[in-house]
Amino acid sequence: MAHDSSERVRIQGGCHCKAVRFEADVERVAEILDCNCSICSMTGFRHLIVPHGDFRLLRGEDRLIRYRFGTGAADHLFCGACGVKSFYQPRSHLEAWSVNLNALDDPAALKIAARPFDGRHWESAKAALD
Ligand SMILES: [Zn+2]
Repeated sequence: MAHDSSERVRIQGGCHCKAVRFEADVERVAEILDCNCSICSMTGFRHLIVPHGDFRLLRGEDRLIRYRFGTGAADHLFCGACGVKSFYQPRSHLEAWSVNLNALDDPAALKIAARPFDGRHWESAKAALD
């Protein structure tokens, strides 16, 4: 599938009530991170890492509510109306947003390989990523 590796596609997604909508340009063949930390396992968040410059928030900035815990480095953003976290600022990639694969309009447009991220042991998991 090497010939697919540089193919880029535009994806769209957002929260459940559609107050928050975004689009992003990503590689069609993408790796996502499945994190087992306390908040990701609870919410079922599947991480598609998108550099800030490849992501555009189309609407809903005024609807986003922030939640921080632990080190406070991650900026969890969820819709104040429906409660869905469709993207947020992860601690692991400060130059990128983490987009929730489950919040995309058409997740099947991407060819996904999932990689576990041991967020319960964050420091070693981050070191293994780099
Ligand atoms: Zn919403």
